[in-house]
Amino acid sequence: MTACRSDSRQPVIKERELIKMALRNIVTKEDPILSKVCKPVDKFDEKLHQLLDDMIETLRKAEGVGLAAPQVGYLKRVFIMDLGDEMLECINPEITKRKGKQRVLEGCLSCPNDWGYVTRPMKCHLKAQNRYGEYYEVDLEELGAQCACHEYDHLDGNLFVGLIEERVDPKELEEK
Ligand SMILES: [Zn+2]
Repeated sequence: MTACRSDSRQPVIKERELIKMALRNIVTKEDPILSKVCKPVDKFDEKLHQLLDDMIETLRKAEGVGLAAPQVGYLKRVFIMDLGDEMLECINPEITKRKGKQRVLEGCLSCPNDWGYVTRPMKCHLKAQNRYGEYYEVDLEELGAQCACHEYDHLDGNLFVGLIEERVDPKELEEK
């Protein structure tokens, strides 16, 4: 996901990571892979770690907030979110509670020409596994809740464009 935000944080990438990671291509909404339902991850191996490392680099380069595995052509239930103070790796995630509402401007790295206002929960509770298969739970709000719901939808083959209530011309956003 890409979202409008006022701070422009410069991500710190460790040198070690730079050597290991590789950029992956982000597929766009015309690609049928984005409408498929992803399969759960059952192997928490080197291949998964490489995918996550590559997704992190790809997300940072694209200056997005979230990225789901199908967006890089991998039909597994994996997404990542850059929440500023941490990069959250969500494997086999479930959103168990959704509370409140927020009307937010939203975009998607796979839909560069689609921007608009959508209604998302203000808060949500997320259960997921990390790259080692360990379970964790986290309460998210505002951008975190928005992003988790957006990325979760990708795992079921759903794009945010169907949720747009009011479209915004991307050119207007650049001028701001
Ligand atoms: Zn997206």
